[in-house]
Amino acid sequence: MNNVSQPTFATHKACSKCGETKPLESYHRQKLGLYGRIASCKECVSEHQRHRRLTEPGYAERESKRARAHQVENPHLQWRVFAVRRMERYGVPVVADLFTKADVVSRYGDACAYCGGEFQELDHFIPLKAGGTHVLSNVWPSCTPCNRTKGKLDLETVALAKVGDGCRG
Ligand SMILES: [Zn+2]
Ligand SMILES: [Zn+2]
Repeated sequence: MNNVSQPTFATHKACSKCGETKPLESYHRQKLGLYGRIASCKECVSEHQRHRRLTEPGYAERESKRARAHQVENPHLQWRVFAVRRMERYGVPVVADLFTKADVVSRYGDACAYCGGEFQELDHFIPLKAGGTHVLSNVWPSCTPCNRTKGKLDLETVALAKVGDGCRG
């Protein structure tokens, strides 16, 4: 793939479908698209999808399968959405970085920090409720049972001993 250099000054572009000039945020991201966005606006895209769902046999099923696969491959997107939702609910300042599961793994390993089990969920070291933020230095891998019982048991001490104080920061 060629690395196409993009002008960075644009804030708007015209939709190839409806022809309306809209702010770049109205377009889904696409690395090689003009200004890093796809050609048709989000509204036109969802209109197009709505149409296909109604008219094309199997389209809705394929789409939801694709969405599920995307979710499995990109758990970090959901982590962030849920974290932001919770911070908003708790009324604490919303601080949420976009890091990937690979980022977490390369920093803390691919196992539950508490019991060494499977990395299934993301755990916030300082709970979001207590003003913790969704940043790489405040998360670590957890399995579902440990994440659920964290409040009850003093697993943090165990995990800290394993991971070591030094690498948090
Ligand atoms: Zn449009
Ligand atoms: Zn565990």
